[in-house]
Amino acid sequence: MENNHGLLIVISGPSGAGKGTLCQELLRQMPDLRYSVSSTTRCPRPGEVEGIHYYFRQRQEFEVMLARDEMLEWAEFCDHYYGTPRFAVEQAIKDGMDVILEIEIQGALQIKKRFPQGVFTFIVPPSLDVLSERIHKRGTESEEVIQKRLATAIRELEYVTEYDYVVINDEVPLAVDKLKSILVAEKCRVKRKPFVFKGEYK
Ligand code: 5GP
Repeated sequence: MENNHGLLIVISGPSGAGKGTLCQELLRQMPDLRYSVSSTTRCPRPGEVEGIHYYFRQRQEFEVMLARDEMLEWAEFCDHYYGTPRFAVEQAIKDGMDVILEIEIQGALQIKKRFPQGVFTFIVPPSLDVLSERIHKRGTESEEVIQKRLATAIRELEYVTEYDYVVINDEVPLAVDKLKSILVAEKCRVKRKPFVFKGEYK
């Protein structure tokens, strides 16, 4: 990635940590950010819209995209495929846009290998009790799926050390402020400012 390219911002964290809410709020407050819409083989939840929340695909269609190397990363999570369509992200980054990928850990680790310059942030809930409460409150999954997601969440928390930043999602406005601070700081990194060496400080 060149220095004048946009930031690739990877946000992970267990199901119920509140990544979705934080990303939506971040995008509202930073309208120049781009959100990478993933493809998935899971069914839409009530209110989810094709092309906005996800591209909902059949397993076979997803496998064709994998065979064509159209995914920047992908993973199987709780019995479904999830993946980041490559083209839109690569193009946006090249055009200097900052792009957010809200993805689980296996995918984030694939991205880290390919784009070590990415900004890797892990969102955690204030406690496991709060996490369980949030997933139950969402009311969109069966108890069996909830238990599976909770077990996955506990395993996932161990991967926090693979990330650059951790944000505890206790209060949404505070957590969003922290995310904004991370992005502002990352943009000020000397290695991302080639023009400073040419004496152009704009
Ligand atoms: P959900 O089914 O709750 O929308 O998402 C389940 C998990 O899949 C979440 O941790 C979410 O961040 C992750 N996820 C969503 N899109 C992608 C993707 O494109 N790639 C990967 N690896 N994970 C994704």
